[in-house]
Amino acid sequence: MTLRETVIETVARFHQSGATQTSADPTAIFGEDAFTERVMRERLPKEVFSAVRQTMISGARLDPAVAQSVASAMKDWALERGATHYTHWFQPMTGETAEKHDSFLSPDGTGGALTAFSGDALVQGEPDASSFPSGGVRQTFEARGYTAWDPTSPAFVSRGTDAVTLCIPTAFVSYTGEALDKKTPLLRSMDAVSEQAIRVLKIFGTDAGVDRVFATCGAEQEFFLIDRAFRFQRPDILQCGRTIIGRAPEKHQQLSDHYFNAIPDRVGSYLVEVERSLYRMGVPLQTRHNEVAPGQYEIAPLFETANVAADHQQLIMKVLRETAPKFGLACLLHEKPFAGVNGSGKHVNWSLATNTGVNLLDPKDETHTNLQFLTFLCAVIRALDLNAGLLRASIASIGNDHRLGANEAPPAILSIFLGDMLEDLVDQIARGDLHETKSGGKMDLGARTLPDLPRHSGDRNRTSPFAFTGNKFELRASGSTINVSWPVTIMNTIMADSLRFIADRLEAEVGGNGDPKAVAQNAESVLKEIIGEHRKVVFGGDNYSEEWHAEAEKRGLPNLKDTPAALPELVSDRAIKVFGDFKVLSEAEVRSRYETYAEQYITMLGIEAETLTAMLETGVIPAVVRALNFAGGASAACSQSGHPSQSLGHRITKLDAVLGKLEDGVTRVKIATEALDADHLAESATAVKEAMDAAREASDEAERIVADDLWPMPKYRDMLFIR
Ligand code: ADP
Ligand code: MG
Repeated sequence: MTLRETVIETVARFHQSGATQTSADPTAIFGEDAFTERVMRERLPKEVFSAVRQTMISGARLDPAVAQSVASAMKDWALERGATHYTHWFQPMTGETAEKHDSFLSPDGTGGALTAFSGDALVQGEPDASSFPSGGVRQTFEARGYTAWDPTSPAFVSRGTDAVTLCIPTAFVSYTGEALDKKTPLLRSMDAVSEQAIRVLKIFGTDAGVDRVFATCGAEQEFFLIDRAFRFQRPDILQCGRTIIGRAPEKHQQLSDHYFNAIPDRVGSYLVEVERSLYRMGVPLQTRHNEVAPGQYEIAPLFETANVAADHQQLIMKVLRETAPKFGLACLLHEKPFAGVNGSGKHVNWSLATNTGVNLLDPKDETHTNLQFLTFLCAVIRALDLNAGLLRASIASIGNDHRLGANEAPPAILSIFLGDMLEDLVDQIARGDLHETKSGGKMDLGARTLPDLPRHSGDRNRTSPFAFTGNKFELRASGSTINVSWPVTIMNTIMADSLRFIADRLEAEVGGNGDPKAVAQNAESVLKEIIGEHRKVVFGGDNYSEEWHAEAEKRGLPNLKDTPAALPELVSDRAIKVFGDFKVLSEAEVRSRYETYAEQYITMLGIEAETLTAMLETGVIPAVVRALNFAGGASAACSQSGHPSQSLGHRITKLDAVLGKLEDGVTRVKIATEALDADHLAESATAVKEAMDAAREASDEAERIVADDLWPMPKYRDMLFIR
């Protein structure tokens, strides 16, 4: 049986086997494995609970004396759930999560054992940091690093088939105190934006009861599912997470017939299991649907405080990957697993909300009189215009380079989409004449049985990389594998910078507690100035069009096409200053990030190039040689029988020509790869990519003319359509 036949049979067996799911009531299991505020309220002494809660709400530092009490409650709770080990769970600059398990068990001194977990062990850990990327902050021999408990994100129990582990979200820093992870800067940026936002609220007199402004985040996750057996037959997917060669099938997504269609049954079962696992850990998944490309899907959680959302997003990716084998599937999170069809993004929805529950980016009906909302809006516009390059750099990765600028994904130019109503208000601000709010009105759908629908005051714009979507901004340019901490850190930091600019100006002009009229007048003039200077980053048209690229260039907006072009923005003078001003990252920390990401990029590119040449030399070229052998044999047989075949002669010429291109391609990729050099990132990487493209083209040509049964790996058609 061929692999294809085996897979088809497995799929059929799955469909015959009926439901595999537990019918557990999702509301009953939700949060069962999360050490949430509710659990703490139930299990901690009153004063301990209120100390922890204070830390969670206002970011106040935790009294170490409280830690012991929390630790022992946490241990009992985890043991009840079957946990045998605990781990400080952190997010090094690899973009992945890291864990080293410690047993709760310790000898009791009389030959037996008991369980123990101290306050110290909860608050601080000391993993060996030597093999995590530090971007030159640390040498390999300087191994010491610390993890520090983040009480603002609930600890959770993670379940494998047998291993049950208490995971404690932590920040990871070096012996010398530099952040070595993605969480530390995120937490610092949350402090920064909170402080500046509260200053603005004070000026508007709306700060009653507000002691914290939270960044909120909800991230939509796109991914592909293929049959797991195919993955093992594709060295490129196994090693690089994507296909490096392969022809798109004749029919793929042209008819948009997969998008929002009924979810295939096996996928539905898989998603239910994913949801149940995540619900248990308190991750509030909300939506699921088929995406545009065949085999592509999306799930999204309800938004949460950005720090918790970022942790939960990492869990979503982990559970997506780990659950797939149970259903005979492989989950591909890569930004571009298949050429020729859509890639996968992660839309990062972001807003600011007070601890009293007010979304600061939610316009009210009469938006033109809502100067506070307009102030926050203009702060975003200013932040993006001044720091578009930095935000672009924060989403740069080797995988995302295949998406950005390609036709289905937002372009690499980071502009803002506002929608008709807000664009109109921006016009009014620019004219210094705020007087009305455009409304969407009602739509009459024609048929009497259908209700009148209220129309939104602005359409959607799918092509914009950064869109206002009603009460939040949506960064659509980020790739599917990204750890959202990083772009959210940037959003928070550049927003803090804009809010500080506005607060400085207004405080100087109207004093701490100005009368509302003076505040309004001054705010309008500051906003007018901001719009005058930064409106150029606002764009409501088709971001995919040629005209926009030309227009954006005229407006002086950066168009950083790929990672080598974007990464230097991290270490621009402006970026270093803004990170430093808000103590989000020191200059050394910023530079170490640049080094780390450049290194990761070049290493992965080298791996991809070598995977390609290996696949060509050990798979594709031998397949072409076999095809030549067949054709040669047939041709000789024809001649022998006195009927020489011209067609076979043509076929042999074709195969031989493609063989030549493949051999050339391999040589070129090897030469370019050897010249890869971090000091000449852009040129050396471009040379490798161009060589890889040429080699791929030859391989995809070969795929079309070599017999199906000689082709050494599953094709796109198999992977995308066998469900
Ligand atoms: P769409 O694809 O139509 O934009 P989805 O429902 O797929 O919508 O995803 C929208 C995401 O935005 C969800 O994760 C949602 O929780 C999140 N979101 C909604 N409001 C906010 C907010 N105020 N702050 C951050 N994220 C939000
Ligand atoms: Mg969506």
